[in-house]
Amino acid sequence: MKKFIFYSLILLSMSIEAKPTNIIFLIGDGMGPAYTTAYRYYSDNPKTPKVESTIFDTLLIGSASTYPDDDTIVTDSAAAATALATGHKTYNGAVGINRNKQKLTSILKTAKSRGYNTGIVVTSELSHATPAGFVAHSTSRKNKYDIAKQFYTNKFDGKPIVDLMLGGGTKYFNKELTLGKRTKTVTKWLKSAGYKYFKSLDELDQLNTLPALGLFAEKGLTAAINSEHPDRLSIMTEAALRVLGKDEKPFFLMIEASQIDWCGHSNDISCAMAEMDDFAKTLTMVKHYVDESKNTLMVATADHSTGGLSLGYNKIYQWKADIVKQVHATTRRIAEQLEGSKAIATDWHKFIDFSLTESEERTLAAVIDNKDEIKDVVRQIIINRSKTGWTTKGHDAVDVQVFAAGVGSRAFRGFQDNTDISRKLNYYLINGA
Ligand SMILES: [Zn+2]
Repeated sequence: MKKFIFYSLILLSMSIEAKPTNIIFLIGDGMGPAYTTAYRYYSDNPKTPKVESTIFDTLLIGSASTYPDDDTIVTDSAAAATALATGHKTYNGAVGINRNKQKLTSILKTAKSRGYNTGIVVTSELSHATPAGFVAHSTSRKNKYDIAKQFYTNKFDGKPIVDLMLGGGTKYFNKELTLGKRTKTVTKWLKSAGYKYFKSLDELDQLNTLPALGLFAEKGLTAAINSEHPDRLSIMTEAALRVLGKDEKPFFLMIEASQIDWCGHSNDISCAMAEMDDFAKTLTMVKHYVDESKNTLMVATADHSTGGLSLGYNKIYQWKADIVKQVHATTRRIAEQLEGSKAIATDWHKFIDFSLTESEERTLAAVIDNKDEIKDVVRQIIINRSKTGWTTKGHDAVDVQVFAAGVGSRAFRGFQDNTDISRKLNYYLINGA
């Protein structure tokens, strides 16, 4: 009898087909470990003695190295995106090709070829390095018009490989480009292939069918801290999960918080924390989806860290999150608005809650007719007051964190290389989790 039950169980398990796994792959561009640490203090409730943990802390599972296939150790976003999308390293600047210029297959294309619906949601232009790595092949990330074109021309079974595209980039998608004998915009090519086109975030509640294209800015979307929609990544993600989740096909969705990196390049901590806040909301929403769905895997990581961010500066044992919270615009925007100001102290308070010292006001007054110099002074005031350190305006090579939940998430525990993340995802696409 025992033997009979044993064999019956084996036959039963063989007859249940492995259910295809939905995969949601999230990338915080430039989000090194100092960013998630900073965000914990930034989002802490100051009324309680305990520092509350964040969604990043809840999902943390491992770490990853990010070095590219050249002698730099410090990766750019194109090489990192190629590693995360294809499982192969390449040189800095390359998109979807290796150092011998051979095309590499992205997990998004593999997903498409295995009957998945596919989506990309970003706050940069869609033709920017990270999304490009999942869709295009180019010797340089700078070929943004050609990369935009590949969102239409790179096909599987006669159809573009991305069913849902949400982000910025009208500059590239709405310019007349030549394809064969015809000249049209990529948006028009996609529309003629059946894509429904959305021009504003407010229209996204009408996103109910695939394929679809949404372009919400000329290049990147407005920075979260400057935006009337500071949670624009969460808004796009909600619409994406709704439309992808109701289809009977499984889905692969890549979501990028693209602009954490841009704030890092500007050494602008308040800008970075506003982007982190949008990303945290997005991760929380995705985690909720994963908990409800039972056959979904979410994996989040960063492509690299940006700016050499540190919490502490100039030998002072302190980091002041409350100062960071008192800044309500990017340093760039503050500088544009202060240029030529005749009432510096008053105009300052349109964007920043804390008051200027006399010496800070004198320093600003000396450069008030030069936007770039104002930006440098404002940035330095915020650095001095918050004790935030930055070592570079570029990227750095520290390992990034890996976050995961849902079916198969245990495979991402511990240390791995960025190419391993892609290979594990690829395995689950083919074999189920
Ligand atoms: Zn960058």
